[in-house]
Amino acid sequence: MFQSVKISEQQIPRMRYRCPSCTETHEGFPALAYSLPDPIFHLTPEEREARTVVSTDLCILDDARYFIRCVLSVPVEGYVEDFEYGPWVEVGADDFSRYSVWFNLGVSPGWQSVKGRIANAFPEMEQTTLGLECTVILPDDDDQRPFVQVHDIGHPLYDEQLNGMQLVRVTELVAHLKGFVLILG
Ligand SMILES: [Zn+2]
Repeated sequence: MFQSVKISEQQIPRMRYRCPSCTETHEGFPALAYSLPDPIFHLTPEEREARTVVSTDLCILDDARYFIRCVLSVPVEGYVEDFEYGPWVEVGADDFSRYSVWFNLGVSPGWQSVKGRIANAFPEMEQTTLGLECTVILPDDDDQRPFVQVHDIGHPLYDEQLNGMQLVRVTELVAHLKGFVLILG
C-alpha cells in the first residue's frame, strides 16, 4: 500500500550536495565560482606568469587592470539557501589598492561600495555578464567576500537577482560544475 506523504508548509526544503573533492555531504547549493577573471583565464601559462599577479581574492593584469573576487547571491524559489555565483569584478586602481589593504590588513578602505564590472561570462545567460556594470558592497564581516549587486534593469541577471530563480535553473547551472551532484529532498 502507498501512503501519501504530507509535507507541512513549515518544512522548508534544504538542499545538500556532493562535491568531487571529498566524501562529505555539504549543506546548501554548490557555488558557481571562478578561480580567475575571464581575461586571464584565456592567457597561456607563459603569459599568465609574465603579465599577472594572482591570489585567491586579488588579481592584477599588466599593472593596469584590477580584479577582486566577489559573491553574487540569487534567491532560489522555495529554498532557504541562496544560489551563489563567485565572479571576479574589475574595479578602478585606487579602489583596488584600498581594498587590498582592507583584505590583507583589515584597515578600512574608506568606501562601503564601489562601481565595477563583472569579469566572468556566466553560463546559461541570454546576454553576457562579461563587462556588466555592478556595485561591489563591502561585507560587515571580513570573513566574507564582497557582495555584487547588478543594477542594469535591462539585463536578465538583474531580474534573476531581484526575483530569484527556479530549482530547475539551479540544476542547469550545477551541470556546468564537473562532479557536483545535488541531493534533493
Ligand atoms: Zn566537499
